[in-house]
Amino acid sequence: MSASVDVAVVGGGVAGLCCAALFARAGARVSVVEPELDPSAPSGPIDLRTLAIIPAAARVLGAAGAWALLDPARIQPFEAMEVWDAGSRGRLEFTPGPQHDGPLGWIVESRQLVAALSRVLEASTASVLADRVEDIEGQAPVNLRLAGGGRLAARLVVAADGRGSPLRALLGIPWHETPYGARALIANVTTGIPHGRVARQRFLASGPLAFLPLPDPHACSVVWSCEESLAARLATLDDAAFRQALGEAFEHRLGAIETSSARACFPLARARAERFAQGAVALVGDAAHLVHPLAGQGLNLGLLDVAALLECLGPPVREGWPRASALGRYARWRRSAALDMTLVTDGLERLFARTDSPLRWLRGCGLDLANRSGPLKRALVAHAMGEAGDVPRLARPQAASPPAA
Ligand SMILES: Cc1cc2nc3c(=O)[nH]c(=O)nc-3n(C[C@H](O)[C@H](O)[C@H](O)COP(=O)(O)OP(=O)(O)OC[C@H]3O[C@@H](n4cnc5c(N)ncnc54)[C@H](O)[C@@H]3O)c2cc1C
Repeated sequence: MSASVDVAVVGGGVAGLCCAALFARAGARVSVVEPELDPSAPSGPIDLRTLAIIPAAARVLGAAGAWALLDPARIQPFEAMEVWDAGSRGRLEFTPGPQHDGPLGWIVESRQLVAALSRVLEASTASVLADRVEDIEGQAPVNLRLAGGGRLAARLVVAADGRGSPLRALLGIPWHETPYGARALIANVTTGIPHGRVARQRFLASGPLAFLPLPDPHACSVVWSCEESLAARLATLDDAAFRQALGEAFEHRLGAIETSSARACFPLARARAERFAQGAVALVGDAAHLVHPLAGQGLNLGLLDVAALLECLGPPVREGWPRASALGRYARWRRSAALDMTLVTDGLERLFARTDSPLRWLRGCGLDLANRSGPLKRALVAHAMGEAGDVPRLARPQAASPPAA
């Protein structure tokens, strides 16, 4: 089988599906190639893989038509963030400023986002091919060879095939990855004290430990980033010992940990592709960059890539679309945004890992100062909500009324 489209999106994770939905809405003929798509909406207990979605990224999902399809009963907005340092007792708390009329963000299951975007695509002219890209050749159009024997010709190919991006490797784009020597252990827990719609993070010398609020007022999604040996030990503890270790590491801030789910671990690294575009191929999401999850920004960054790509390229109405200059602008813009985010997350990771006394003291003073300083706090809130720097139009506050979910 051979088909021809304007846009072929390789990878049907959240970034790829959102990109496909936005291009389809812009009038493009779109195909998504994804071997493992599960479009069913989650039911039962909240899934382990949850994501903090910031307002800027929620607007992009809103523009794609997916945000309104999320089940509000399975989403938890958070209205405050509390961060504190085990080494210095420094503490920082922030809430949205008076100019914001929504929360700081939402905790959403990754599967729910995939299900909502799949529904948007089902109702559009886009097609989803349950296949895998095996080879890529040509320039205008680009030809994709699929594992199932089919071929797909496209004017633009979007590589949204994740951290190990086979497409990036096929194109020979260098990938600079530095492992943190750490893993993120995730679990869902219930606590004696309700979370009060606050996202909390305690910085330990071994890494940050986050409790993110879930729809049950006593339930949290836990992300514990720590050295590999500790993560391996935590992953194999029996439930009672795990709950005890977790409660102690979190200073029992939400009381006793009453129940805990299965656990999963993810190896952590920072990485960036050397080029975010090559020929008529653009990289988005984890195929382009990887950041530490301590700021919960990986997918948010990916969704802003998608908005920036749409903005730079526009709809495929003219001959010669996509223009090389527009792809170049996209690549420079988003590579610089990914670098900025890596500097922030990397800097925080290193700063809080240091155990020497003068630095711990300075760190505590810095957190307390930021907590008291209005302008500093406003800048932090703008960053946390994705409203600082060169924000793509679709993600700006004036682009849409704040999502209601
Ligand atoms: C512990 C942890 C917590 C996190 N928390 C947050 C958070 O709170 N907020 C946040 O914004 N981010 C968070 N992140 C980051 C976030 O999970 C990722 O950035 C995001 O899931 C990446 O989405 P993606 O669509 O780019 O890639 P993926 O979700 O990796 O999707 C890639 C897709 O490509 C497909 N694929 C692969 N090869 C091929 C091929 N040859 N042909 C076709 N398809 C192919 C795969 O099947 C897959 O479905 C967290 C990460 C971790 C590890």
